[in-house]
Amino acid sequence: MDRKEFVKSLIFSPFLLCTMRMNALNRVHSFYKKTEKMPVLFVGHGNPMNAIEENEFVEGFRKISKQIPKPNAIICISAHWETKGTFVTAMDFPKTIHDFGGFPKELYEVEYPAPGNPELAKETQKIITKSEIGLTQQWGLDHGAWTVIKHLYPNADVPVIEMSIDYTKDAKYHYELAKELSGLRKKGILIIGSGNIVHNLRLVAWDKINENYGYDWAIEANDTVRKSIINRDFEKIVHYKTLGRAFDLSVPSPEHYLPLLYALALAESNEEISIFNDKAIAGSLSMTSYKIGN
Ligand code: ZN
Repeated sequence: MDRKEFVKSLIFSPFLLCTMRMNALNRVHSFYKKTEKMPVLFVGHGNPMNAIEENEFVEGFRKISKQIPKPNAIICISAHWETKGTFVTAMDFPKTIHDFGGFPKELYEVEYPAPGNPELAKETQKIITKSEIGLTQQWGLDHGAWTVIKHLYPNADVPVIEMSIDYTKDAKYHYELAKELSGLRKKGILIIGSGNIVHNLRLVAWDKINENYGYDWAIEANDTVRKSIINRDFEKIVHYKTLGRAFDLSVPSPEHYLPLLYALALAESNEEISIFNDKAIAGSLSMTSYKIGN
């Protein structure tokens, strides 16, 4: 058995999965302890195939996880879970959701068996006062979460919960709601917003699907966000609908953009914000990602 086969056999071993889950559950009980303030991430997740491909973006995810203390748990706000009202997943073992169509069989076979964290779900419900947060046993980990977190923590040994995006609310509402998550950062919780700043699937340049290429308007919108972050002008980013053509085309619907606001809302004035995976791809997508804090 070569190394690759050996690793593969470990991945599918029920015993190993069970041990991983137990280890991760043990971490749950320590998450209320005060920790150093955890960084916050906004990740551009892009193509679901990133889950199983080797490319510069996947490398970027791996690299960033090495710069972050290992979290007690993760709360992920994913573009791919929109609901009326806000919900958090509260099951012990969230299922891996393959919420896409037309991809190779291999991608549908990937499981990411990280446990949930019902305690964190209840804590999240408690600290948010702006809205009533529902706990749900439905849902699980959609591809906005698992295709990226898989590269951050390949052993699936950090519990993950998801928080949904209320599609009835505007950008400002989400930005203000996100601020209430701030206290979790000192409990060892890694908050991840997962979307894409530029995301227009109708205008994808299919002949440049794997190329680092962006239309002029895609580059313009991405640059405007970057400059506004450098200038700490988050209000401009929140009010993206007033910014004209580049944003009209780059953000035709809000769900992939809003997770960025969840991350920025948590940035404190003295915190460093670093950029990674800063590339456009396929004309109308950007993979640009940000890390807030150290
Ligand atoms: Zn997506």
